[in-house]
Amino acid sequence: MTTPKNNFTDERANHGVRGVTILGSTGSIGINTLDVLARHPDRYRIMALTANTQVERLFEQCQKYLPPKAVMLDPHSAIRLKEKVRKSGIAVEVLSGIEGLNTVATHLRTHIVVAAIVGAAGLMPTLAAVRAKKRVLLANKEPLVMSGHIFINEARASGAELIPVDSEHNAIFQCMPIGYTTGAAPATVKRIFLTCSGGPFRTFPAEALVSVTPEQACAHPKWVMGPKISVDSATLMNKGLELIEACWLFGVTPDQVEIVIHPQSVVHSMVEYVDGSVLAQLSNPDMRTPIAHALAWPERIESGVKSLDPFELARLDFERPDLNRFPCLRLAYEAARAGGTTPAILNAANEVAVQAFLDRRIGFTDIPRVIEYTLKNLPANRDNQLGTVLSDDVHAREMAGRYVTERLSHMSQGVT
Ligand code: NAD
Ligand code: MG
Repeated sequence: MTTPKNNFTDERANHGVRGVTILGSTGSIGINTLDVLARHPDRYRIMALTANTQVERLFEQCQKYLPPKAVMLDPHSAIRLKEKVRKSGIAVEVLSGIEGLNTVATHLRTHIVVAAIVGAAGLMPTLAAVRAKKRVLLANKEPLVMSGHIFINEARASGAELIPVDSEHNAIFQCMPIGYTTGAAPATVKRIFLTCSGGPFRTFPAEALVSVTPEQACAHPKWVMGPKISVDSATLMNKGLELIEACWLFGVTPDQVEIVIHPQSVVHSMVEYVDGSVLAQLSNPDMRTPIAHALAWPERIESGVKSLDPFELARLDFERPDLNRFPCLRLAYEAARAGGTTPAILNAANEVAVQAFLDRRIGFTDIPRVIEYTLKNLPANRDNQLGTVLSDDVHAREMAGRYVTERLSHMSQGVT
């Protein structure tokens, strides 16, 4: 069997081709990123792909893209992947654990790191990439919610570039004035309109929310995404997390961010200036647009996304969100205003609650209950240094987990 030549030894890597590592390559953002990269083999070289436990999918990606390195967080999965790689004869080195993720996030020949792990688990490898002065494409919003100030400060210290991939934040980034620096609100920016599709239950009868199933919650009307963000989009916690993400990335206060329900998901957000101008970014709802933008910025590259047809659109609607129907959004506004480690506690309790809902241990309307209980009973710290954030994350998970087990699981038996 001949060993296919891998990217790492390809001599074009020395001629302006940029090395890309994807943290979380087997997920929805990871797969969309691979699709964009495959359209530009002259510009980008895939240096490393990573996953948690999805051995089959990562192996298929290794065969197709031949990255020099692949990482499985889970050590048993890494052993299985190593065996498959050995048998197939491809030249891919398999690493494991958080050390493996940190190695590929900071590797010398990696210029761009795509942060596409889901949840707080992405915090340390993404931070490692920032400290190593990479261009970091931020899809993984939970670490930013927990500790956005740390990312901004570390990027300033190292000279790393933070480019948002979350479609709304990428839109805002595109609407910012020339010379804007991450984390510092330009004095000319008055307000941000953060758009929100409204999720699958925007027009659902409020009393029916109690019996919503994970399948219904994951069937988003406009986007195909991983299960966690799909549930967050259904509770509107996703918009709450994005509110906090926007405050860090653009240096604005929660009161400068107006959440706007926009069911067509074509206007991805808007920025209002002091002179009354409002700039918006529009495109079809397809993550390959923000991914391509963030990869190539300040240049533009083909993304494979279908052209927007204004005649087909016919109309664009905008509504105010209903904070009573979607309490997660209210809780996120409160956490954003409270500051300190409150957003980290909100995020941790939400991760626990969403997993319990996906595991059918609690109902859909229990999700905000778990979060509110944890926020009320765990005193937040004003100090939000990394160590404090990480320890409050652990405490919040323990408290939320206990609440689910002791107070809610038995009530939801029979949830299908
Ligand atoms: P996903 O569930 O589809 O994929 C998650 C990826 O992370 C997988 O590759 C998985 O193997 C890996 N992973 C999971 N747990 C891990 C762990 N503990 N350690 C290391 N790797 C782990 O998720 P997704 O929908 O692609 O979302 C990824 C991130 O991007 C999330 O933070 C989400 O909020 C954000 N985001 C996603 C979209 C979207 O359209 N999917 C849009 C905007 C932002
Ligand atoms: Mg988004």
